[in-house]
Amino acid sequence: MELEREEILSAIYHCVKCKLCSISSFHPNEEWLPLCPSGQFYGYQAFYAPGRLEIFREILEGELSEPTEGLLKAVYACTLCGACYEKCKQITSVGISLPELFEKQREELVKKGWALDAHKNIAEKIKETRNAYGEKHKYKYEAKSVYGAEVLYYIGCTARYRVPEIADAMLEIFDKLGIKYQVMEDEWCCGSVLLRTGRVEDAKALMAHNVEEIKNSGAKTVVFTCPGCLMTFKKNYPDMAVELVHSTQFLTRLGDMKVKKLGMEVAYHDPCHLGRDLGIYEEPRALLKEVADVKELKREREQAWCCGSGGGVKSAYDDFALWSAGERIKEAKEVGAEAIVSACPFCKRNLREAGEKEEMKVFDVVELVNRSLEG
Ligand code: SF4
Ligand code: SF4
Repeated sequence: MELEREEILSAIYHCVKCKLCSISSFHPNEEWLPLCPSGQFYGYQAFYAPGRLEIFREILEGELSEPTEGLLKAVYACTLCGACYEKCKQITSVGISLPELFEKQREELVKKGWALDAHKNIAEKIKETRNAYGEKHKYKYEAKSVYGAEVLYYIGCTARYRVPEIADAMLEIFDKLGIKYQVMEDEWCCGSVLLRTGRVEDAKALMAHNVEEIKNSGAKTVVFTCPGCLMTFKKNYPDMAVELVHSTQFLTRLGDMKVKKLGMEVAYHDPCHLGRDLGIYEEPRALLKEVADVKELKREREQAWCCGSGGGVKSAYDDFALWSAGERIKEAKEVGAEAIVSACPFCKRNLREAGEKEEMKVFDVVELVNRSLEG
């Protein structure tokens, strides 16, 4: 633990406060584009990565002893999007990523009892219902599940309860392509929201349950439409000796699915967990290009602008989350897209809410693939 503290402090002291992490690469874009949604929205140094690191140092070195509202906001109003780290690692070579440090910072705060009510409420809901939204009803697709099938679709709380059209599309694709699948009879939240908000202990029972269920399922491949769930399984779960893949990886490697073009001009939005965390940039683009004309946004791939909903921000600071998504919608309009397409239920939910007034259509890649599949 002491070593960990020293490692963390060493990483913090590597920050030279240059703030390169706050802007996208100037030369390819030829304009000054912000990269950190939190700093850009709130406007204070404390809301950019270096400010957040300084607060962490002060907490670890005992210089901060009061959980003021401003302090909690500076710590928790960060989407953990990782855009800052993409820039920072180019100059500091620090091995612990900035989002990892910010998660550790939240763990410290939770240990001190300095958590946000919004996040405590989610933890309570999960304890009671095993899903992050506190929903009590059972999922309708369990009836179609084939026990023992090699492919298991881990649906995740957001596609189950807030954007079910993504789960519908994924399952219809399996059906149309004749792929036998199973869903977990008793799927529990993956624990991502707990882990990202510093509630590590609360996530342990969820992870143990899901590991046991998956081991007993006989599945060889687990497919995820949610990059947050996938990243959590890859980063935080023990090895289950099963393959863990995102929907876009799974579908790309099937080869020719006999899809047809939909005649749409769309912009692709890289989800943070899928792109920066898992390095999956090509597969969603390859699939989309088969069904639509794809336009690149100015801030794309490693430098994608975050939709604003991750890291527990949507539940605690919805005004910030919607502003961030609104900025992305503007960017999609600028390139002349009629729809913005992502590959994440969290992104879809937030972009859709922000895009309602702008009349921007929002889809997940699997929805467009499903529409374009013949039969
Ligand atoms: S780029 Fe890295 S070193 Fe520079 S201010 Fe940001 S976090 Fe600190
Ligand atoms: S993780 Fe994203 S929101 Fe948080 S400081 Fe880095 S760029 Fe800003």
